Amino acid sequence: MPHPVIFTDIDGTLLDLETYSHAASADAAARLVAAGVPVVLCSSKTRAEQEPLRAALGIPDPFIVENGSAIIAPPGYFEFDLDAVGCAPDRAGELALGVEAAVIRRALVEIRRTTGLALVGYADLSDEEVAAVTGLAVTAAHLARQRDYSETIVSPLAPAELAALRAALAARGLAVAHGGRFYTVSGAASDKGVAVRRCTQLLRRQLGEIFTIGVGDSANDLPLLAAVDRPCLVRRPVGDWCDAGELPVTRLSGVGPLGWCELAEEVLALHSRPDLRLQQEKERAVVAW
Ligand SMILES: [Mg+2]
Repeated sequence: MPHPVIFTDIDGTLLDLETYSHAASADAAARLVAAGVPVVLCSSKTRAEQEPLRAALGIPDPFIVENGSAIIAPPGYFEFDLDAVGCAPDRAGELALGVEAAVIRRALVEIRRTTGLALVGYADLSDEEVAAVTGLAVTAAHLARQRDYSETIVSPLAPAELAALRAALAARGLAVAHGGRFYTVSGAASDKGVAVRRCTQLLRRQLGEIFTIGVGDSANDLPLLAAVDRPCLVRRPVGDWCDAGELPVTRLSGVGPLGWCELAEEVLALHSRPDLRLQQEKERAVVAW
């Protein structure tokens, strides 16, 4: 029976989009951890932001930061030598896939100058200003500003401005993703999907046959959803689901963390049954592709 693995977005999916609270999903997350189901956080959030959340939820698994820019493998988590499989994490367990933040910030300064776009990023703001614009507490805003591989743009962009930014970034090997409220600029070669596929390889080596489940709420989760066996979307607070195009997504009925809990309950029910339902589901998913 394949081992289920959940790759999950954080804001608006695991956490309430407005309050950033994990209260609604904490119990289900704890039960997944107790059942041995890996829960891989995969978000535009930084390492500094995700570490306290992992600790609060008791999640021991690897995590993906800054929109797929790095996989963090907790020391000792993988029982094989990562170097031997072509991964070379640094001493802090960080496997970099993206572009350094300093390079991105320099590019944004240049783009602002050459295009006239009024781009405002976290690097241009103080902790207090980021707190005011995001609704985060000042301490959380401080963590959010500690970006190693990306920059968050908080200024609104009209469609033509976004197109101009996208083109200017592409010429520099960079890309922009819309995360629901803000825009995240990172290396064009890295996204949530690339990181999820890499992490899936590592988890498969560790666990044997796995069945990957992905869950998100917005457009920047689509690469994540395209990289898993079973893509799922939680409902957005406005009552609809993100447009997933051709992806055969499961639309969970709950908004944000409530939808996440629905999925967790289903995975727990399947995982606790010694039959082959997951195997059958995997076969159906393969046929669907
Ligand atoms: Mg989200």
